[in-house]
Amino acid sequence: METMVERLIRYCKVNTRSDATSTAVPSTVSQVEFAKMLAKELEELGFSEVTHRLDNGFVVATVPSNLDKPVDTLGFIAHFDTADFNSENISPQIIENYDGQDILLNKNMDVVMQVEKFPNLRNYVGHTLITTDGTTLLGADDKAGIVEIIEAMLYFISHPEVKHGELRIAFGPDEEIGRGANLFDAKGFRAKYAYTLDGSVLGELEYESFNAASAKVTLHGVSVHPGTAKDKMVNTAKLAFEFDSMLPEDEVPEKTEGYQGFFLLSDMKTTIEEGHMNYIVRDHDKQKFLARKQMMLDNAKAMNEKYGANRVVVDMKDSYYNMAEVISKDFKPVELAKQAMENLGIQPIIKPIRGGTDGSKISFMGIPTPNLFTGAENFHGKYEFASKQIMEKAVDVIIEIVKLNAM
Ligand SMILES: [Zn+2]
Repeated sequence: METMVERLIRYCKVNTRSDATSTAVPSTVSQVEFAKMLAKELEELGFSEVTHRLDNGFVVATVPSNLDKPVDTLGFIAHFDTADFNSENISPQIIENYDGQDILLNKNMDVVMQVEKFPNLRNYVGHTLITTDGTTLLGADDKAGIVEIIEAMLYFISHPEVKHGELRIAFGPDEEIGRGANLFDAKGFRAKYAYTLDGSVLGELEYESFNAASAKVTLHGVSVHPGTAKDKMVNTAKLAFEFDSMLPEDEVPEKTEGYQGFFLLSDMKTTIEEGHMNYIVRDHDKQKFLARKQMMLDNAKAMNEKYGANRVVVDMKDSYYNMAEVISKDFKPVELAKQAMENLGIQPIIKPIRGGTDGSKISFMGIPTPNLFTGAENFHGKYEFASKQIMEKAVDVIIEIVKLNAM
C-alpha cells in the first residue's frame, strides 16, 4: 500500500500548472489527464459514486454513511492545479529528521533555503520534510490537500466499525487562476458543510476571506506632434499617474496586513494615444469594499470633468466575496473544526485570509466552506515544502471532524 508521502510525491511530479491565458475548462490539458487518473485511482481505492465531469473538470466521490440516523453530509475539497511557476520535471526531495539548519535544495545551482530568511523552518526540527530540487515549485499547494483527504477517507473505508455520516469529496481545477470553483456543482455535491484543505501551517482555520474585484482602466489621449502640442495633446501616461495618485498612498499590499484592504496596480501600459491599467481591489469589510470601488469610479468622474468625457473609463468586475458573510450565519463547520483541533491538542489559529479560496465562492453557492491547514508552506515558488508530521495532523483533524459530526 502506498504511503501518503509517496502518493504526494507521485502527484507532485505531474505538471498540472493552470494557465490564466487559456479559455478552456480546465485551462490546461494536463489537468484533465490528472483528473482522469485521480478518478480511476479513487475507484480502485473503494470510493463510491466516482465521477469526473468534463464540463467543470471536477472529480467527485462518496464514502456512504454507515449510520442509522441522519447527520449532515460533510464535504472535503482540494484543487489539483498548481500556481504560475516552473512546474517542468518536478523532483521532490525527502529530508528525514530535519536538523533545523539551512537546506541545500540544489547544489549545482546553489539554491539554499536559509533559516534566516524562513525562520518558520525552526518549527520543523525532527520532521520529515518534502522539498523541491530548487528549480520548480512543489505543488503541495494543493496536492497535500488531496492526499490528506484521500488518506482520511481511506481510514473510514478500511474501518467500517467507525461510525460516520455521508462524506463527499471534490478535487477541482484552476483554483490558482481564480475560476475553478465557478462551475462547481454545489447542489449535486449534496454537502451541508464543506472544508477546503488549502491552508498552510498547523492549526490554521480560516473562514474570512477578502471581498475582491478587478478594475480595468482604459485611458483615451490625444496624440499630436510635440512641436505643436500646446493645449491639444493629452498624454495617457500623465492621466495614469494622476489617476493612481488619487488613490490612498498607503493602501497598497506592501503597506497593509490583517484586516487592512488595498488597491494594487498590477500592470500598466501606455502610449500617448491610449493607456491601460489593471488594478485589483481587496477588503474584508463589505462596506469598505464598496467604498473602494466607488472611489475609483468617482476619481474617474472627476478626471473626466477636468479633461473631457471618456478620458478615463473604469470597468469593474467582482471576483469573489468574503465567505464570513455566509459562515457567520451558521458557524457549525467552524465550531466542529475548532473542537476537532482542540480534541487533538492543536491550537486553532483563526485569522482572516488575505486572499480567497474555492470556499469563498462555494460558500456563496450555499455550502459554508472554511479552510483548513495542510502542513505545507512557502507556496508558489521553489522554497515550497511540506511536513509529513503536520500532514498527518491534517488527516487527524479531518477524521475528528467527521467523528464529531456523527455524534
Ligand atoms: Zn491552493
